Amino acid sequence: MRLPLYILLYLLVTSVTYSVTKRLELTLVDLKKINDESLVKKMMYMVHSLDNPKVDIRRSKRTHSLIIETEDPRLLSLIIHRFKTELNIPPGALTTRQLPEVKVKNTYRLHKRSLGEFDITAYNSHESVNDYLDELSISYPDLVTTKIIGYTHQNRSIKILINTHIDSAMYVNSLLLAQINNQKSGAKPKVFIDGGQHAREWISPAVVTHMIHQLISGYYKGDDRLRSLVTKYEFHMLPILNPDGYVYSYSDHGIRLWRKNMNNVTTTNCTGVDLNRNWDFHWAGRGGSRDECSIVYQGQSAFSEKETKATSDYILSYQGQWHSYFSFHSFGQLILFPYSHTAAPNPDYEKHRSAAKSLAAGIKSVNNRRYTVGAVGMILYEASGSSESWAYSIGVPYSYTLELPDLFTFVVPTDVIEPTANELLQGLVEYFQLIEEEDPKVYKQLVANVTESLPTREDNYQTSDSLYSSERRNSQNIFLLLCLTMMWGIIYY
Ligand SMILES: [Zn+2]
Repeated sequence: MRLPLYILLYLLVTSVTYSVTKRLELTLVDLKKINDESLVKKMMYMVHSLDNPKVDIRRSKRTHSLIIETEDPRLLSLIIHRFKTELNIPPGALTTRQLPEVKVKNTYRLHKRSLGEFDITAYNSHESVNDYLDELSISYPDLVTTKIIGYTHQNRSIKILINTHIDSAMYVNSLLLAQINNQKSGAKPKVFIDGGQHAREWISPAVVTHMIHQLISGYYKGDDRLRSLVTKYEFHMLPILNPDGYVYSYSDHGIRLWRKNMNNVTTTNCTGVDLNRNWDFHWAGRGGSRDECSIVYQGQSAFSEKETKATSDYILSYQGQWHSYFSFHSFGQLILFPYSHTAAPNPDYEKHRSAAKSLAAGIKSVNNRRYTVGAVGMILYEASGSSESWAYSIGVPYSYTLELPDLFTFVVPTDVIEPTANELLQGLVEYFQLIEEEDPKVYKQLVANVTESLPTREDNYQTSDSLYSSERRNSQNIFLLLCLTMMWGIIYY
């Protein structure tokens, strides 16, 4: 009688494959039919005053609409009811629809896996993405290195590994970065790309991961465009900057629209800091919040959060060698550059704008998707303590935040991942070409800086071989222990 139990346990432990369904509903308020700014503010205030992280309201200037999204249909009905009865919003201005199902896949295994299991065109769990990066570094050691650059607030525990609950899988708390570098081609400027600062913006880590995949496969297949990129620049790519929040956004008990990290060190019952308000440049200025419950809570101090601290320390460890910084977010089809704390232009405004336009042109040439270009504080809103302005402040000459395709919602179908990655890579090809032509000094200077640092610099970051794999060995030991326990069980019962 006990045997089926052990078989079940074996299946659960050796094959942690799951997908979670979280269906969202969305209501669009057509602002052309309302045309009353005070009413728009009242609607936004009404939703914000619910203080419920399960609902999100945002204004889209591009589509002239107000977008309300939630995974709780009763909450949406209540909001719509109050819009109609308390604010007299005409029913014709409201369109409600249920969004398609979008799942996160987990192909993580406690024992040997093959690369083929990872679906590059899907949303993948944090541990699956880390596993994939690790496998790439093992399969292509000449081109790819992975590094753990830090850990998050949620503590790792081997005890909870045995539990197959989604939150308890290994690696949840590690920030794993892939470095793509054809080492034979000598000193070259570095490019940093991160995704997933905001948990709910799933398209962002998926696109960064897809770009890693394409840069590597393009390099080996002899795609001249991508080969040239990898030969001239060194890419440091961190797909998931906010692992705890990402995991929470797709876990059974989590909130699909979660934005912040999962730091619990607050004086209230509210959880989380908005990582993109926590960077140390004009921290606590306009656009962030001191309210711990706010979705733009800036944290107790600049770099109070382990994720921003670890990432910024990593970037600082190569200060003077970065050519570009990119942070991918969703959504809006925007290419944004500093400053974010003010609407005033930065000293390199024209250079930033010109390079952003070439990026937008490259993106548009693939699928005709149009991105708007501009400084954060000028065309979006003030957002002090954001990463792209910090990167610029420490000397990265070109620094951007990208808001990926605008489909009204954070729930972007998986078939958008690959086209978006294709668009961005073509965008980068044209972007780097333009900067090489218009600002040739920057490349030469960075190569000189990198060359100068080469003989003395020691890398403080552990590669996956030394650290990440030791974690995996631990998990394999537990697997072996379980097998032995099962055999013991089978023999004695
Ligand atoms: Zn974001």
